Amino acid sequence: MQENCIFCQIIRGEIPSFNVWEDEDTFAFMDINPVHDGHVLIIPKEHADDVFTVSAAASGAVMRTAQRVARSVRAVVQPDGLNLVQCNGAAAAQSVLHFHVHVLPRKKNDNLALNWGLQPGDMDHIGALAKCIRADLEAN
Ligand code: AMP
Ligand code: ZN
Repeated sequence: MQENCIFCQIIRGEIPSFNVWEDEDTFAFMDINPVHDGHVLIIPKEHADDVFTVSAAASGAVMRTAQRVARSVRAVVQPDGLNLVQCNGAAAAQSVLHFHVHVLPRKKNDNLALNWGLQPGDMDHIGALAKCIRADLEAN
């Protein structure tokens, strides 16, 4: 854990988040600047900046959770497609230095660029989606 890392603070509950999943090794919560409905971030509880420093155990655990969350996001928002995206370094549009995988639902012809920019979402709507995704994860 790192004192000033925003995602470590989310894991510790010091910053509010719309959580959808937690297990021994990973944590998943709604992105507050969603590209589309159902945009979720998966992080390891063990802090690592990026893919170059994360442990094999932590990255494996994150991928297992990402797969599980992706299935529930698909069930809840029924996107046209879905990307798993992981960014390293400023040039690759990494804005938070705690390894994370985006579960990123896609719409046909959305022409999304890899550096998509951050637009705040509607928190009530994000919270409602988190509830549905959490319920699907608990059921499956
Ligand atoms: P990246 O650009 O790949 O580093 O992604 C970081 C993501 O974290 C961005 O999509 C942000 O919208 C998201 N983010 C930053 N702060 C928060 C927060 N407090 N709660 C939820 N998502 C956040
Ligand atoms: Zn951290």
